[in-house]
Amino acid sequence: MKIAIRTDNLDDLLKAKAKYGDKALILAGGTDVNVKRNRGLIGPEVIISISGITDMKGIVPEKGKLVIGSLSTHSDIENDAAVKRRAFPLHMSCAAIGSPQIRNTGTLGGNIGTASPAGDTLPSLVLLDSIINVMSIRGTRKIKAAKFFTGPGKTVLEKDEIIYSVEVPLGYTSSNSGFFKLGMRDALAISVLSVAWYFDKNGTVGLSFGGVSPVVKRILVKQGLSETAFRKKVSGIISPIDDIRAGAGFRRGVVTDIAFKVYRDGGI
Ligand SMILES: Cc1cc2nc3c(=O)[nH]c(=O)nc-3n(C[C@H](O)[C@H](O)[C@H](O)COP(=O)(O)OP(=O)(O)OC[C@H]3O[C@@H](n4cnc5c(N)ncnc54)[C@H](O)[C@@H]3O)c2cc1C
Repeated sequence: MKIAIRTDNLDDLLKAKAKYGDKALILAGGTDVNVKRNRGLIGPEVIISISGITDMKGIVPEKGKLVIGSLSTHSDIENDAAVKRRAFPLHMSCAAIGSPQIRNTGTLGGNIGTASPAGDTLPSLVLLDSIINVMSIRGTRKIKAAKFFTGPGKTVLEKDEIIYSVEVPLGYTSSNSGFFKLGMRDALAISVLSVAWYFDKNGTVGLSFGGVSPVVKRILVKQGLSETAFRKKVSGIISPIDDIRAGAGFRRGVVTDIAFKVYRDGGI
């Protein structure tokens, strides 16, 4: 690293991103960036530390949705009463991340920016049709979470853009929605796979899957399908791989079993 910038001003961040483009790496909570730097996996020329930008923090209710600043930590989101009551899968996702220390430091924007297929907030954001608001000195863009991720570690973010906030629709409670994560252990474990779901009033079930394809996948299905038809639908949209955490066959079998249990019983 040749240049380290620390700013608490959004305009300065946007100007720095416009100047340095993809030579500059944003540092939010640092729980992904610092691990990669310590392992020598990345060595950006410029690091822009943004944790002091108050404009990018906070959870604000608007009509039918919450607008969550990208610098909100997983603890901020997990402990927010409106998220827990009316965007329940996201509450569950944030509660499932790492450990208290990681949740107090890691941010929603960082989880999105890392764009891991196993990132725990991603299935909930995609499931709930959330909108990611990105910003640059050229202006702002609203991008559906389902269109934001293009592959492991890859997004549609342009080199001068930052993740500013996320709009999360409301109406998803602990009785009609949820999130389940399978990890190698209860805490400090990256997901082997995950499932988020909701049941709507019209008999549609939404399900999204993490860790079983290069990007999170979502399906909407009507209630009342046979087990065979349902399993075929799930199996048709996922493409799991073998990695150090699990084999592809294990992932395919378990995610389909969990999804079917949710579909049949209304939850886990
Ligand atoms: C011990 C440990 C356990 C973990 N457990 C989990 C887990 O259970 N589940 C899980 O999903 N993750 C887990 N993680 C990964 C990590 O904590 C999360 O992905 C976290 O949300 C990252 O947020 P951050 O603010 O620390 O991101 P940073 O490390 O600061 O940044 C991550 C990436 O996002 C980019 N970025 C950050 N903010 C913005 C922004 N506003 N605009 C544009 N780009 C941005 C950065 O440039 C970088 O590429 C774990 C990490 C550790 C070290």
